[in-house]
Amino acid sequence: MKTVFVDVDTQIDFLFPAGALYVPGAVRLLPAIARLNHFAAAQGIPLISTTDAHTEDDPEFREWPPHCVAGTTGQLKPAETLVGAGQTIVEKQALDVFSNPDFPGLLDRVAADRYVVYGVATEYCVRCAILGLLATGKPVALVTDAIAAVNPEEGARTIAEFTARGGTLTTVSEVTS
Ligand SMILES: [Zn+2]
Repeated sequence: MKTVFVDVDTQIDFLFPAGALYVPGAVRLLPAIARLNHFAAAQGIPLISTTDAHTEDDPEFREWPPHCVAGTTGQLKPAETLVGAGQTIVEKQALDVFSNPDFPGLLDRVAADRYVVYGVATEYCVRCAILGLLATGKPVALVTDAIAAVNPEEGARTIAEFTARGGTLTTVSEVTS
């Protein structure tokens, strides 16, 4: 059974309180994200890290404060989330990673039997990723102690929607043991 980890938008602007679009509490996820990504590298588990990479006048900024502008520090991933070999960074300009036309081809190449997903924010980019991956027909597990929501009630609603569609819930210790 080939597992692929999907690390969603764990970028400086979202993870740190001084970031342009901080997800409340997300800074506390950093050790968990680092542990998951390094576990993937050590075990030879393919790791897909999605990243927002916006232009300065990106249309998304009509709805959201400017964030993750390509070329800025805030767009970068924290060093502890970068593991090198086996990690593929996928850039996107919208909430949904499936908006990147190369993403489906990447999924074909990694040929996962199962996805393990974590990152931010639960009810936005993580939601797009988990529902899109479920729609590929493969099992998807969401790491509940390695996600953070902008609005906790919306986050809980997303988790309920995901499990109602057949997604499963897991934890950092469960996937790294
Ligand atoms: Zn964005």
